[in-house]
Amino acid sequence: MDAVQTIQSVWDALPDNEALLDFDTFLIGDGAKSLMGLDKPLFMFNFDEKEDEKIVCENDLSEFDKNPVYIEDVENIFYDIKKEIFERFGYLKRKSEQFSGQLFLEKDLIISQDDQYLMEYLKGHDLNENSLTNAIAQLCAYKELGFLRVKFYSVDDCSICNAFDGNILVVENLISNFCVKNFFSHEFMQCKFVPVIEDRKYFANYLDIDVENVFVGETLVENFPIEYTNELTKILENVKYKKVIFCNFSKFEDVTNEVVIEVKENLYVDNKYLESYSPIDLLKIWLGSEEKIVEKVEGSIEEIYYLNGKRVKKTQQGFVDVESGEIVK
Ligand SMILES: [Zn+2]
Repeated sequence: MDAVQTIQSVWDALPDNEALLDFDTFLIGDGAKSLMGLDKPLFMFNFDEKEDEKIVCENDLSEFDKNPVYIEDVENIFYDIKKEIFERFGYLKRKSEQFSGQLFLEKDLIISQDDQYLMEYLKGHDLNENSLTNAIAQLCAYKELGFLRVKFYSVDDCSICNAFDGNILVVENLISNFCVKNFFSHEFMQCKFVPVIEDRKYFANYLDIDVENVFVGETLVENFPIEYTNELTKILENVKYKKVIFCNFSKFEDVTNEVVIEVKENLYVDNKYLESYSPIDLLKIWLGSEEKIVEKVEGSIEEIYYLNGKRVKKTQQGFVDVESGEIVK
């Protein structure tokens, strides 16, 4: 049988007049909008067959595909989340210090008039959903603290959100888009945002963003970056270093390309962003790689290559994987 006959026989075997399901069109690629959460929930399988005749469709999105949870206490969620974030950065304390002698209700330092309007809007537009309220409250807190951009971290572990994991997004745009039901990943996704703090010196003027000395297990962390508290605690749990020191490498004259340096039992991490990599990303890459070379990749676009899906760069030893430091060619 030749190719034409094979295709013909496949067509002949298809049932007549069967309309494509949204799911099919999604996979074929016309981007059915309803599946992206604009009109209805992501997957709407509706099987009328008896239990034993049921077709079981497996998809790796089913795990997260929960029904939206609409809530009445938008105010409480907003309050709790903003309070937690404000306290983490020492904002309430600093804000009240600025107005010496004045008495403030804690509530008034946390919930602004803008928040009130926004919460009314969410309730009036069927946007008072648990995950969404949570996300918007995080963003409002960061906006008020002066952070312009955030890094997105997937919480529901679905494949769409995983694809966006680590992306850097603009706070203001996110809030606006969420409010018109434009969810960049999918409807009412769960997510965690971490502020992108590139200029630590600037923010240190009015927020607590680094804690001088913090012990994580046996390791002393100097200039512990507050925004990564949970993640850093987790990744440093079992490291062998005596000290992990976050600092600005530009003050070291003899350091040119490195962003993580091991000196005896101590580890120095440059506390600046490198493209979209945060200092914590760089530390994670370091701890995960065997060769222990994490270097700044500088220069023009031409110097970066791709090999087997990995970013590599040309060195005297050959082509080196940018992330793992391994020589790959
Ligand atoms: Zn997701």
